[in-house]
Amino acid sequence: SDPVLEIRGLRVDYGLGDQAVRAVRDVDLTLHRGEVLGLAGESGSGKSTLAYGLTRLLPPPGVVSGGQVLHHRVDGPPVDVLTLTPAQLRAYRWAETSIVFQGAMNSLNPVHKVSTQLHDVIRAHEPDSTRAGRRARARDLLRLVGISADRLDSYPHQLSGGMRQRVMIAMALALEPQVVIMDEPTTALDVVMQRQILGQLAELRRKLGFAVLFITHDLSLLVEFSDRIAIMYGGRIVEEAPAAQLYGRALHPYTDGLLHSFPALHGPRRELTGIPGSPPDLRAMPTGCAFHPRCPRAFAPCVGELPPLGPPADDDPRRAVACWLHPAGAAAPGRPTPTDHP
Ligand code: ATP
Ligand code: SF4
Ligand code: MG
Repeated sequence: SDPVLEIRGLRVDYGLGDQAVRAVRDVDLTLHRGEVLGLAGESGSGKSTLAYGLTRLLPPPGVVSGGQVLHHRVDGPPVDVLTLTPAQLRAYRWAETSIVFQGAMNSLNPVHKVSTQLHDVIRAHEPDSTRAGRRARARDLLRLVGISADRLDSYPHQLSGGMRQRVMIAMALALEPQVVIMDEPTTALDVVMQRQILGQLAELRRKLGFAVLFITHDLSLLVEFSDRIAIMYGGRIVEEAPAAQLYGRALHPYTDGLLHSFPALHGPRRELTGIPGSPPDLRAMPTGCAFHPRCPRAFAPCVGELPPLGPPADDDPRRAVACWLHPAGAAAPGRPTPTDHP
């Protein structure tokens, strides 16, 4: 109830005009101060596009074609990140929101020491800081992510993949942003390392109070470490709930499929290949609910009308789902219900 980042009606397209493919479709998503929000969905569901779009780091031919991204500052009115000038954006990044992207651990500059790269981030935003001050900060930051200070003068290739990833997290935290976005590589790091990093991030936010948007294929990881989870399908958020509720009882059949595509919370994990059928073709989206061709519970209305995302009637108001099995609020008169259409 204390939002730090409010994404409203966000649309992201690849290409323009007739060639445009809409990869993010009218996404509303709120990140609350200090929470860990997990975002999961199959490959191609639009998770990275959403993260790049909202931080204005979208590579061409990607374009944000609609919506707002409101960043609520502790003091002062909210700013719409989508309207920031390039100079404002430079000041905003790292200081207010920082991003650790897929493959980020390979984005450290191989010819510079870890310390130099940490110093550069600090100096760029705090030109008046002293060299000694920056060095002390860099040492503290490494310690924070569990790397001993004697690694400061290492070059990236002298560190393991997991350590490089933690250096990136240290950089992301250097200016004490309120929001950290992490788009987790699924192949570059092994499963154990991913758990460690998300666990550590969740721990650090308890200490430092920032909010985390953590993106992954791996729903089991999120169930363990996030406060809330949002599920994406075909460019839309289809379900959103506190982690325990979502794990205890998924409302959307797609979420249910994701949860059952791995055997157990603490068991061995595998890729989310358990749902029959394939993700929708963005150039030829199914009518109505985009999941209907794959949905084991599809019924007549699903083909005709897009189910809106909203709190389902008679359920926890912190939940939201976009599925005709769970009509929003008081079901509209004449609105078909599952019992009408078994
Ligand atoms: P993954 O889990 O594999 O990282 P994702 O959920 O992050 O997947 P995105 O990378 O955001 O998915 O891709 C969303 C959709 O946008 C996909 O259908 C993809 O094919 C499409 N897409 C991504 N980049 C481009 C591009 N440069 N041009 C056209 N389409 C693109
Ligand atoms: Fe399945 Fe229909 Fe719900 Fe879509 S709206 S998830 S097709 S039941
Ligand atoms: Mg991605």
